[in-house]
This record gives sequence, structure tokens and C-alpha cells, in this order.
Amino acid sequence: MRHDQARYSREDKHEPLLSEKNETTLEIGDDSPLPDELTRDSLTLPEVSEPEVARHYTRLSQMNWSIDSGPYPLGSCTMKYNPRFTEDLAADPNAAVHPDRSSESVQGTLELYHDLQEYLAEIGGMDAVTLQPPAGAAGEFTGILIAKAYHEHHGNDKSEVIIPASAHGTNFATAALAGYDVVELPSNEEGRVDVEALEAAVSDDTAALMLTNPNTVGLFERDIVEIAEIVHDSGGVLYYDGANLNALLGRARPGDMGFDIMHYNVHKTFATPHGGGGPGAGPVGVVEELEQYLPKPQVRERDGQYVLEDPEESIGKVHGFLGNWLVLIKAHAYISRLGHEGLVDTSAKAVLNANYLASQIDLEVPYGPFHHEFAATSGDRDAADVAKRMLDYGVHPPTTKWPEMVPEAMLTEPTEIESKESVEDLAEAFNRAYADSDETLESAPNRTTAARIDQATAARNPVLSWHTLDDEA
Ligand SMILES: *Cc1c(COP(=O)(O)O)cnc(C)c1O
Repeated sequence: MRHDQARYSREDKHEPLLSEKNETTLEIGDDSPLPDELTRDSLTLPEVSEPEVARHYTRLSQMNWSIDSGPYPLGSCTMKYNPRFTEDLAADPNAAVHPDRSSESVQGTLELYHDLQEYLAEIGGMDAVTLQPPAGAAGEFTGILIAKAYHEHHGNDKSEVIIPASAHGTNFATAALAGYDVVELPSNEEGRVDVEALEAAVSDDTAALMLTNPNTVGLFERDIVEIAEIVHDSGGVLYYDGANLNALLGRARPGDMGFDIMHYNVHKTFATPHGGGGPGAGPVGVVEELEQYLPKPQVRERDGQYVLEDPEESIGKVHGFLGNWLVLIKAHAYISRLGHEGLVDTSAKAVLNANYLASQIDLEVPYGPFHHEFAATSGDRDAADVAKRMLDYGVHPPTTKWPEMVPEAMLTEPTEIESKESVEDLAEAFNRAYADSDETLESAPNRTTAARIDQATAARNPVLSWHTLDDEA
């Protein structure tokens, strides 16, 4: 298979730390102006050549998976290639201005910032956008705080947020953190929002409905206009989880569907590597009526000058300064380079690749027609076993066992970046793993640096130091 990668074998696993290689101790003179207790007499540093450093990091990178080494169809997470030109722009010394500089002295930066607010507003069909939140989950929290501020301002006594059972875990956490009771909404037989169940769930207590569209199995909520009406009639607001915007880019806008607030996962939709803990950005868009509650400050244009202004009823700050600016630069660069036509092409290819992949795999896909991602089921085979085995075939597996509406789910999102051949390789990895014996699946993966780990223990009792691991081995 094309994606068989030269990997670090399990036997070679011990990669010493650079400091374990050829350590050199430097004596430090005592002419430092700092107090004695803050200085040291000597410092031990590795003395290694450039090739040794390069090989060390290359070997480390081969011990793991990355989008630069092969496809990464992690459904819902949208792991896609990040163009190098966006990284170059973010690394340009002129891009990083000190956050305490006066607005007058950084007009160019504020112009880019303002442009991005407008681009995102246009893409989402929103009236105003804040770029401050540092992640999708932070965007959700900001958005729901805005909804809460709106209700409080209008004297609405609201205690509940309605969320489909299939929603991303952060939605539930957001609503709970904002102080709301969560009302879970079941899906109908088609895998979409059950409108009758929604009608029954909505009441005077409904502060908001949080929804992603297409939903977490890639299905477009066809009843979205009716759904919006039901929520609005109850006095609630409609929140859009923008993690699935890849399917709609340039074609449909949450604002036109009736959504009042949305977040954008800049690191899923508009370049910037996703994962590893960030940094990311989760801008939030709102309709005009909610603009006054946005975090402060907003960048606005006044008579040809870019200024910082605090919205009247602002919920306050949700991040330092203006957010993760170097991440936002990449989004600006990506959107500017692609333009409208490029964005339309992106969503077309994301949907085409998902549909082509699904047509090539032997696993059943229970719900459809889907857009940029689909949830296959491994049926009576354990989805996690099949996934581990896919690693042996040189591809990263999809998200497994979520959402729960599909038993043994393999939630798959190839994204727009994969070629036809690459999608076919992915399909082959699916099919080969799915056809392997139970015994093979249970012992997988065999060709990766690490064998199967005890996931529950790894999550509950993580050993984060190489040395601790060594000592215990
Ligand atoms: C990724 C994701 C989120 C959360 O976004 P982060 O940037 O990871 O915090 C929310 N909803 C859905 C559907 C997602 O896929």
C-alpha cells in the first residue's frame, strides 16, 4: 500500500533524550548581577551535532502519526493538511506585534483582524464576529454566555439548554458550565433531530438549542427552518456548532438557516494544525441583536481608522488581548488564497471524498445521504479492534464508538485534501482490517512503535515523563 510508512520499529523504541547523549557541563562565571540564590554554578547541556538533532526529532516524529505522513480520517475532528504558506506568514517577524502596542501604531494588523471578522461573518451569514476565543469549546462557552446575557438583559427566566444526544461532548459541558440544565434530545429513525421530540422538549425554560449541521454523522438537518421556528417561538436562541462547516463552506450559511450564534473551528476548517492541545481559535459570530454582548474589545472601523471598542453589554474578556493572533493569521491567509470559488471547491471535495470512500468500503453505513463525514459500523466486530488493525496497514483509523446512535461506529472524515488514490488506499485499509481474523484484530497493532495500550489507565493515570516510564519498565 502506498501509505506504508518507514516507521520506527518497536524494537528500536528507546530513543534517548538529547540530554542523555554526550552531556557537557559548562561552568558558569560568578559575575552575574542576580542574587546568589537565583543563579547556578554550572549547567549541563547535550553536545550534539545538527544531523544528530535532526535525526532525533525525525525519529520521534516517526513514532507517531501525522497528517504529513498519511491520511487521518478522524471523523468530527477534521484533520487536514495545513498549507506551508500559512505557516510562513504566521512566522513572519512582522506578523507578531506586541499586544500592548497602541492601536494607532498597529493599524495594518488591526486591518487584517477586522477583515477576518468580516470574512467569517460573511461565510457564516452572521452580523458580527469576535476572534477572541481560543478553541471551539471556548467558542461554545462564549456563545452560550452571550445567550445568557441576552436572556438576563431581557428579564427572561431561562434554565435549560436542549442538545441532541448525538452532539459533541463539549456542547453538554458548555451548557452545564454556563449554569444550565441540559435536556437531551433523541434522534429520529433517520438519524436527524426528531421534530416532535423537540416540540415536546421546548418550553418557556428553553434558553437555547445547540445544534451542528450537518450533524455528527454527516446528515443535513432538513427540517432546520422548522426547528429554528420552534426554538424562536419559545423565546430561545439557536446555537450552531461550527465544527462541521467544512460541508457547507461557500454553499449554505448557518445565519440563513436561522441560527443566531455560531462558533467556527478555525483549526478544523481554515488551516492551522489541530490537536496536541492547540493553540487554536474558535471565533464566534452573532446576529445583530446579540452584537452588544460580544466579548470586549471588538475591532471596528471608524472613519478609515481601526479602533478597539467595548460592546455596550459585553460579557467581558474570554482570552488575553485579542486572542491567538498567529493562528488567526493562518485562517486569514487560507481564506484569502482560496477565495469564494476555492471555498466552494473545498466543500465539494470534502463531500465527494467522504461519499467515494463510503462506496468503496465493505462496512455498512447505516445513515445517509451524508456530507463530509459518515459513521460506518463494524457490526459484530469491535470497532476499536478494526481501528487498531488499520494502523498496521499504514493509515490512521477513524474516530471509533462515537456517536453512540451507530453501534460500533467508525466515524470517518477523509477531508478534501486526499486524492482518489489516497481515498482508495484508505478503503483498502478498512477492508483488509475488517476481513482479518478475530485473533489478528485482538493483537493489533503489531507494526507500530507502541503496542495496544490500556486506554482507561492511560487516561486516568497518565505517566507523562519518559524517565518515570523507564524506571517502571
Ligand atoms: C471539535 C469539536 C468541538 C470542539 O472544538 P475544539 O476546538 O476541539 O474545542 C465541538 N463540536 C464538534 C462537533 C467538534 O467536532
